[in-house]
Amino acid sequence: MGTAPMTPEDRHRVCWYSRRTSHLPAEFGLHTIMDGQLLYCAHPMLWPIVGYEFDVSNCAQCDYFRQARSASPSR
Ligand code: SF4
Repeated sequence: MGTAPMTPEDRHRVCWYSRRTSHLPAEFGLHTIMDGQLLYCAHPMLWPIVGYEFDVSNCAQCDYFRQARSASPSR
């Protein structure tokens, strides 16, 4: 029996480059907001281009993913 694949949200949650902020943008169009916080990515190849206009679905196939935190549901 294998483990279920991580969702994009799970990958973002445990990735070393993932970040959250409570400062929300004036327009929500190109952003990912979860649990009242703006999700973004601080990877040096992505942050200068994407900034806060981050779509968490991109975490699903991201080659820069680097696990830093436990994927346990308690986090
Ligand atoms: S885009 Fe890639 S590097 Fe950035 S948080 Fe998601 S998985 Fe991590």
